[in-house]
Amino acid sequence: MNELTSLRELVGEIRDLNTTQGLLGWDLEVNMPEKGSDIRAKQMATLSKIAHEMMISDNVGTLLQKLREEATYKSLDKVDQALVREVGKDYDRAKKIPVSLVQEMQEATAKAHLLWVEARKNNDFGRFAPILEKIVQLNQQMAEALGYDKANGSPYDALLDLYEPELTVQQLDVLFANLKKDLVPLVKAIQESHYTPDASFLRKGASIEKQWQFSEAVIQDMGFDFNAGRLDKAPHPFCMGMGAGDVRLTTRLFEDDMVSSLFSSMHEAGHGMYEQGLDPALQRTPLADGASLGIHESQSRMWENLVGRSRPFWTYYFPKLKEYFPQQLEGVSVEDFYKAINRSQPSLIRVESDEATYNLHILLRYEIEKDVIEGKLQVKDLPKVWNQKMQDYFGITPKTDTEGVLQDIHWSHGSFGYFPTYTLGNMYSVQFFNRAKKEVPDLEAQLAKGNLKPLKDWLNAKIHKVGKVETPAEIVQRVTGEPLKAQYFVEYLWEKYSTVYPIQRQALQSASAH
Ligand code: ZN
Repeated sequence: MNELTSLRELVGEIRDLNTTQGLLGWDLEVNMPEKGSDIRAKQMATLSKIAHEMMISDNVGTLLQKLREEATYKSLDKVDQALVREVGKDYDRAKKIPVSLVQEMQEATAKAHLLWVEARKNNDFGRFAPILEKIVQLNQQMAEALGYDKANGSPYDALLDLYEPELTVQQLDVLFANLKKDLVPLVKAIQESHYTPDASFLRKGASIEKQWQFSEAVIQDMGFDFNAGRLDKAPHPFCMGMGAGDVRLTTRLFEDDMVSSLFSSMHEAGHGMYEQGLDPALQRTPLADGASLGIHESQSRMWENLVGRSRPFWTYYFPKLKEYFPQQLEGVSVEDFYKAINRSQPSLIRVESDEATYNLHILLRYEIEKDVIEGKLQVKDLPKVWNQKMQDYFGITPKTDTEGVLQDIHWSHGSFGYFPTYTLGNMYSVQFFNRAKKEVPDLEAQLAKGNLKPLKDWLNAKIHKVGKVETPAEIVQRVTGEPLKAQYFVEYLWEKYSTVYPIQRQALQSASAH
């Protein structure tokens, strides 16, 4: 069909601009000299402006109008329908949001970043509050422009949809309520066990060079294709996919933490293998992407946590690690090591938290974001509400706002609705992994032999290949036979931490109650 060919050509060019912008962004983090930032900001803004103009052009509009006609749309195959759906979504969004609103948001976030840095440095929430209020208002306007179910929905739905398509507050409330019910007691039980695994051997000092080699060897074993990707050092670990044939990962290394860079490399390689595993036929279209941030995060967390922090994995890799670091690990058993890397401690800081406590940090942010966007909570009250929730969920209260409400960069970027995707990623990862255990023969025995490829192949076939052709809900249903549920993740955590800490799940009946 002519219209379809023309649309593919147009979005192909838009995609080229976007991925080129991604490459400039990667370079900015990895290679760019300090003085390059001014010109780089201009280059990226120009590319983004051209891409935006192309997207809202009459060309795209006319083609979409034709392709969205019922008879035409129905005659398309599944992939082409998805293409029309996704391009249509981008087009509608670009049309619905007034240019003035986009500009205001850009101006506000440019200012907000500096103010946030200052406020954080000086423990002065008041310095950040006015611009945060502005950002909240702009997000509320954004939600109104994008639209949501006025009768039963929330303005937060419109923002969520930007990161996790079609997910609503109604669904998230149920997922988080089930999580909270079992996680708060888990964190409490761990605290009350008064047991702390020894992890001092991880901090004895370990050569950066050797850490790098070990990480590289592991992600190679996982199946990350170094002919279609790279691993580099950067201040923040991330993954940037320009196409299945060019996927860039970064990691950071600390001499006084033997395994931190290994886990961040495995995490980013999980993202990277998703990108490398996309069907080449989807290339240069908006379908060549993860189904959502949550589904993307399920891939990284599966490799980092369900594989990388598991017993089977270390059965094979611990003796290898010992070859790299014989002095540091002298007299340490695989069991000691397993407990050390699975230590759980309530931390004030999200990014320093562990698998058990991490999601309570997200829950807290979700509750706050939702109330703020719905107008039930004022920005000036955020520090008080934050600290109260920290006390309720973790039993600790931050002494400063720097360690509390000011710790995350996301709001200064203007992002509301992003945080929940981290926890969704954890929940998806366990539900997928449980399925993999049923479908991949002897999965855990394979992992214990260092054979990581069967899992990678399963993920390629079940999740990576389809890219954005299916929605997150469709993928979960097809792969696991049911919708996303919180209970599998909670069961996994209780089971795991009962092997690390002397604790027992008391409310076993709650497993059958939801
Ligand atoms: Zn990630």
